Amino acid sequence: MKPVYLDYAATTPTDERVLKAMLPYFTQQFGNASSLYSFGREARQAIARARRQLANLLGAESDEIFFTSGGSESDNWIIRSLADEALQKGKGGHIITTKVEHHAVLHACAALPESIDVTYLDVDEEGRVRLEDIEQAVRPDTFLVSVMTANNEVGTIEPIAEIGSFCREHGIFFHTDAVQAVGHIPLSVKELQVDALSLSGHKFYGPKGIGALFLRRGRKIAPLIHGGAQERGLRAGTENTAGIVGIGEAAEIARAELTQEGQRLTALRDKLIAGIMKIPGAHLNGAQKDRLPGNVNFGIEGVDHETLLIRLDLMGFAVSAGSACSAGSLEPSHVLTAMGQGAEAASTAVRATLGRFTAPEDVEAFLAALQTAAADIRRHKA
Ligand SMILES: *Cc1c(COP(=O)(O)O)cnc(C)c1O
Repeated sequence: MKPVYLDYAATTPTDERVLKAMLPYFTQQFGNASSLYSFGREARQAIARARRQLANLLGAESDEIFFTSGGSESDNWIIRSLADEALQKGKGGHIITTKVEHHAVLHACAALPESIDVTYLDVDEEGRVRLEDIEQAVRPDTFLVSVMTANNEVGTIEPIAEIGSFCREHGIFFHTDAVQAVGHIPLSVKELQVDALSLSGHKFYGPKGIGALFLRRGRKIAPLIHGGAQERGLRAGTENTAGIVGIGEAAEIARAELTQEGQRLTALRDKLIAGIMKIPGAHLNGAQKDRLPGNVNFGIEGVDHETLLIRLDLMGFAVSAGSACSAGSLEPSHVLTAMGQGAEAASTAVRATLGRFTAPEDVEAFLAALQTAAADIRRHKA
């Protein structure tokens, strides 16, 4: 039996339609987009089209989209360049972010020079940041607020529009890491009032190694990667044409299918949650409402997640213990810790994330396997 993949938050398979759109750009249309002859022109046109496709998904303008190597680069770029600006003005400065961000944000902040202060905000027990906490944390030298759109571990959707409106009112630059949200829930950079937004192709059925930063028109930032004049001088390096075509196609497909697929996944997710909650000692981690359509994160009291994961893997189900990036480390999840869970509860957390190729039968089979596995593990412990 083919294993059932239930870890779409870690990465998604590239959609066949996306791959098909990409393939010619490896072989026939391999030109360097900077070249003046026809090969270059073809690549340039393909990149321009992908930029429009991505802009359309976000309600942005084409010239507000800058291609990068992925979510991590986009996060690092915005944090480093705004911090450098503040440092160049001479007096350091202050960033507000949250304790539940992806490590691409947390570690980028931690790597900044000491004269940049960083406030890591607490969240409530569902993983949600409170606007009041941001209001209270703001200082005269706050130059950046960065809050993720949706959490990669527990699926909680943050109140981005409210934070955006507050930041705009106070003239503070607002960035959101929307890697888990783009292509999965409706997003408009205008409604959210964000100045910058990070996204990544491989989280919405595009290829790995391609992402983008949305940067609001009129705001210039310094490059992170120096070199040629690509991406209007803001991100050097010969364009990853095939990857860019892929992320554009993925954006186009997501836009067309988002509403229907969101409803389908929400229904499947709720069915899975209801089934899990029937297991004795089970609890849900993350938000009851405001939750990503495909995300389920749960724990079963007394059932260690590593043991459960290995057992489920043997039974043919791929799920994760929190996030892929912290797998293998015995540290409890920083997200669950910030939500107030102790090490004991955090050591039971399992994330099952559904996606485009998850069928209702997959969810049913997973529920049956989970019941068996959990009961077995408990019996062995007793
Ligand atoms: C996956 C992820 C990233 C990193 O994106 P890459 O393209 O893998 O570098 C950043 N933030 C969040 C919330 C993610 O889920």
